[in-house]
Amino acid sequence: MTDLPRIPLAGVIGHPIAHSRSPALHGFWLRRYGIKGHYIPMDVAPQDLRQALETLPKLGFVGVNVTIPHKEAILRIADVITDRAALIGAANTLIFRKDGRIHADNTDGAGFMANLRQNAPHWNPAAGPAAMFGAGGAARAVIAALIEVGVPEIRIANRTRPRAEALRADFGAKLTVYDWVHAPNMLEGAATVINTTSLGMSGKHDFRVPLDALEPSALVTDLVYNPLKTQFLLEAESKGCTIVDGLGMLLHQAAPGFERWFGHRPEVDEATRNAVLTA
Ligand code: NAP
Repeated sequence: MTDLPRIPLAGVIGHPIAHSRSPALHGFWLRRYGIKGHYIPMDVAPQDLRQALETLPKLGFVGVNVTIPHKEAILRIADVITDRAALIGAANTLIFRKDGRIHADNTDGAGFMANLRQNAPHWNPAAGPAAMFGAGGAARAVIAALIEVGVPEIRIANRTRPRAEALRADFGAKLTVYDWVHAPNMLEGAATVINTTSLGMSGKHDFRVPLDALEPSALVTDLVYNPLKTQFLLEAESKGCTIVDGLGMLLHQAAPGFERWFGHRPEVDEATRNAVLTA
């Protein structure tokens, strides 16, 4: 009997996981490119994470995405960690290598940048300081990406100031920390303005920081993509700023994993956006 090739399996591990848009996204790409493979959401509790990662490769999994609350813990389990995942302190994409080792990468920063490049092609990161609200996990990936493309200064304000101070300690002197109450001041002269907090997300608190000092020439982007056009983006748009929503980041951060697991670089376009929005 001939050995049929195994159908590649991938998926996303989180706890909870029902809200994840990744299965709709990868499912769309699998159908679009006619690839025989499956992408499965898996609810794995923290105490079961290590055992799940030992078992999945034996079942035919070639890799997985990792989401909350496992993004940091995974670095203690993975065998090979990319420089950017180590710098960020979290991973979102795992490859199960043929030699049995687990390779961990973080594609959030690359996804953030690819979204801006695609939707604001004239944006020049070196044009002036960036101003960033928030200092959580996503903020770390965004900072690493901004430094890599040559942003001259990054101003950060976070409700819990020590978290922003910790980022400065890790990423260095390009970062300036502002008190949350003084956050409006960091907008003066900022060429790039980013919300990395969960404020404005449906079901969460509103984003209430005054944006009067926003320059109309600034590029403004929000990591929140539910709703797609947040109040933060609407206000920036009304001041004449170029705005980019956060959905593109979600789509672009998924592309490298899909390519590694299923052997085809997927396109991120309007049809991909619609597939996720209507799922
Ligand atoms: P996280 O680590 O939990 O950080 C949450 C951030 O929001 C912290 O800076 C936190 O401040 C701030 N925050 C929460 N409630 C607040 C409030 N009431 N007032 C002021 N600040 C508040 O989460 P994360 O992983 O960084 O994610 C942040 C957001 O980005 C989420 O909405 C997530 O869905 C989104 N995201 C989007 C993408 C994408 O692909 N578009 C990727 C990653 C994340 P404290 O430190 O003071 O708590």
